[in-house]
Amino acid sequence: MTQRFIARSLRISTDVPNVNNKSSARGVDGVARYRCARGEAIARRLTIAAHACGSSVALGVADMIRECSSPSNVWTATDLHNADGEAFDGVGTLASCGSRLCLSCAAALCRRSRRRARVGLAGFSLRSGELFRFITLTMPTVPDASLIDTLRVIQRAWSLLRKRKFWLTCVRGGIKGVEFTVTANGYHTHIHLLVASKWIKHATLRSEWTHCLRAAWREHGLDIVFDTPSGEAIVDVRLIRAKHRGSSVAVSIESALEEVTKYVTKTESWDALPDAHLVEIAEVKRWQRLFEMFGDMRARVGAEKVAQPERATASVHAINLSDGDQLRIPYPEQPIKHRSASAPTLRTLMVTLDRPAWLKILAARFSERREHRRTSLRQLYPYARFATLSGDVFVGTELRSTLAA
Ligand SMILES: [Zn+2]
Repeated sequence: MTQRFIARSLRISTDVPNVNNKSSARGVDGVARYRCARGEAIARRLTIAAHACGSSVALGVADMIRECSSPSNVWTATDLHNADGEAFDGVGTLASCGSRLCLSCAAALCRRSRRRARVGLAGFSLRSGELFRFITLTMPTVPDASLIDTLRVIQRAWSLLRKRKFWLTCVRGGIKGVEFTVTANGYHTHIHLLVASKWIKHATLRSEWTHCLRAAWREHGLDIVFDTPSGEAIVDVRLIRAKHRGSSVAVSIESALEEVTKYVTKTESWDALPDAHLVEIAEVKRWQRLFEMFGDMRARVGAEKVAQPERATASVHAINLSDGDQLRIPYPEQPIKHRSASAPTLRTLMVTLDRPAWLKILAARFSERREHRRTSLRQLYPYARFATLSGDVFVGTELRSTLAA
């Protein structure tokens, strides 16, 4: 029964709204301009912080975010289309910096996560005795711990929990998203989970998670204290229903999906970070997995990816496409196809070149990528009209032929 509700809910949510109207056009332009402004602001702040502590990596990342957020890189488009031929307006970037601190790239990453989550859920069948549940696992704030440290520890605790007999007995698969907020006492980092599971006893989950958190912090050299009435970590378990009916014990599937995939959208959180932590984030080369599918849910997504390769490489992130149609963001260090795989990465160049030479090669690489992306966008969306915020207009291949005739 629940499974049928879920499927219906997913069908509704993948409907693409009619967005070809004046208000949505203003919305797309507003989003594009907002992302430009936010990118420039974070780049400016990171530049100052990088100079202050002498971090050439953070300085280079700031330069890349600035390129990514520049008006010549951010576009809006009309008459894009999805696989069903439905048209929508969209916003995107030509080249991508790939930084977690960049709002445009974070939005794209979030959309990719949503897309994967929906594919995983849509193909998942509950077994007898199972229901979808929404779980939140919290961690106490630890003063003086950096964001990177708290993310490492919570990831470690999560990997311990997944191996516990209790967990393996109850949970068959699910979707995980890590979220953090900044408080006066430190980072409040927590995990949201959408799981397919048998009955989960709240008290058991709480003591198991507490055990894993303690072990993870101990490995990090810290014995933590849980300042709660139970003396244990706070966890929350709710049933997932097709629709939210005002119940305090259930959430809707849409709300649960939103929670497990929203971690990257809250880039405003960066505003509250100390400068030194901002530099630390910019310097991270490999991030912890903030979003992941696990267990049987992951296997479903793997199969879907093979079946629909063209969807995985679509190159538009459209703010109005509610099914999470997603593009692949090339990692900033990924070479353009015709470049030798052994060519130095941007991350190498930013620390080895002097500043004028670095800025010159960065501009050249972004220019190259923009041209490459323009060509693929024209082909992928033959009836669309694109305009960068700097006023550069280009159109899809079919529309260009029509205009030329
Ligand atoms: Zn970016």
